[in-house]
Amino acid sequence: MDGHSPTNRRDRAVIIGAGLAGSLAAVYLARRGYAVDVYERREDPRLAPAGIAGRSINLGLSARGMRALHDVGLLNDVLKRSVPMQGRVVHSPDGSVGFQPYGVRDHQILHSVLRDELIAVLVDAADAQPEVRFHFGWRMHRLDRDRPAVTVVSEQDGESLDVTADLVVGADGAFSTVRQQMQHGLRANHSQEFLDWGYKELTIPVGPDGQPRVRLEALHVWPGEHGLMVAHPNLDGSLTCTLFMPYEGESSLATLTSAEAIRAFFRHNFPDAEELMPHLVEEILSHPTGHLVTVRTSPWHHADRVVLIGDACHAVYPFYGQGMNSSFEDCLVLDRCLDEHRDRGAALAAFQAARKPHTDVLADLSTENFIELRDRVHRPGYVVRAAADRL
Ligand code: FAD
Repeated sequence: MDGHSPTNRRDRAVIIGAGLAGSLAAVYLARRGYAVDVYERREDPRLAPAGIAGRSINLGLSARGMRALHDVGLLNDVLKRSVPMQGRVVHSPDGSVGFQPYGVRDHQILHSVLRDELIAVLVDAADAQPEVRFHFGWRMHRLDRDRPAVTVVSEQDGESLDVTADLVVGADGAFSTVRQQMQHGLRANHSQEFLDWGYKELTIPVGPDGQPRVRLEALHVWPGEHGLMVAHPNLDGSLTCTLFMPYEGESSLATLTSAEAIRAFFRHNFPDAEELMPHLVEEILSHPTGHLVTVRTSPWHHADRVVLIGDACHAVYPFYGQGMNSSFEDCLVLDRCLDEHRDRGAALAAFQAARKPHTDVLADLSTENFIELRDRVHRPGYVVRAAADRL
C-alpha cells in the first residue's frame, strides 16, 4: 500500500478555517481518502479577495513551505504567481543601502507571493477533488470534542447546523475557537503574548515609467530602533511594505497623526523610503493597524478526534517569516504521521511531538529577531546577521 492510499473506510474530516493551513490540509486529507468539509466564516476568497484589514498582503515562501506544496504538486502553480527574492537589501538609517544574497542554490532563495493568490491556488486545488466541499460564510460556533461534532452558523441568515465527523481539524488561526473549546476544562497549558508593536501595510507603487522603483527581486529591510519596515515585491512591479512600530510612546503609531509627523518620522528613520512611497501619508492615516501575537499551547489534539494546525497552535511574530511556512509544514508532517500510525490517536500525538519543539524554538527565534532588528542592526558597523526572512 503506498503512503497516499485511502483509509479503509472513507473517514470524514471537518476542517474549521480555509486560511493557508486549512486549505492545504484539505488537499492532503483528500489525498489520504478523507471526505473533507471545510467551514470558513469569510466569503470565498476567489470571489471576494479578503484584503483582510490588518493582515499581511504578501508573504515570503521558504524551503519548508515549498516542500509541503511540492508534495501535493502545487509548488509550480504557486511559483508562477510569485517573485523570487535573491537576497535582502538593507536600507540603513544613515542612508546607505547594501545587498546581501541569500545563497546560490535554488532552495536558498525566498519567493514573495500574495496571500489572496496563494489561498486561491490552494482552495482551487482542494475544490477540484470530488471528496472536498467548501462552505464559505459559515462560522464554527461550538465543538463537541468527544463525538466529535461541530455546530456551524451561517453568517448570512443565522441558520445553525450540526455536523459530525471522525476528525475535526482546527485551522482557525491564532484566536482559534476550536482550541478554546477543545481544551476547555482539561489540563491544558496556554499562553498568548501580544507585542507592544503593531503594523500597517503600505505600498511602493511602480514608478511613473511603469518600472519598479527599487530592485524588485529582493526583500527590502529598513531596520531601526523606533520602527522597522520590510517590503516584499509583487509581480506587477510594486512592493508591499509592512511598517512595524510601537503603539505608544514618543515615536510611535500614536504620534503619526499628521502629514508633517509622518514625513518627519520617515525622513529621520527611513531617509530613502519617503520618495518611493507617494501615498505614504494617506495610507498611514487610513490603513488599519494589525496586531502581533505569539501563541504557545498544549495539547494540540484531543484523543483521535480533534487536532490543531497552523496559527491555532503556534502563532509567532513575523520577524522570522516562518508562520505560514511552518503551517504548511504541519500539513506535511500530519500526513506523514497519519501514514505511519494505524491508530489515529497515536498519529495525532506523534504529530504534536514532532512539531511542537520546532514551533517553540521558532517562537523564540522570532522574538529574538525582532529585538535584533530593533536594537542592534541600526548601530554603525553592525553586520546584519538576522532579518525578517530566515530559512
Ligand atoms: P489564518 O491565516 O489566520 O487562517 C485562519 C482562518 O480561519 C481564517 O480564514 C479565518 O477566517 C478562519 N476562521 C477563524 N475562526 C473561524 C470560525 N470560528 N469558524 C470558521 N472559520 C474561522 N508567514 C510566513 O511564513 N512568511 C511571511 O513572510 C509572513 N509574513 C507575515 C507578516 C505579517 C505582518 C503577519 C501578521 C504574519 C505573517 N506570516 C508570515 C504568518 C502567516 O500569516 C500565518 O502564520 C498564517 O496566516 C497562518 O495560517 P493559518 O491558516 O493557520 O491561520
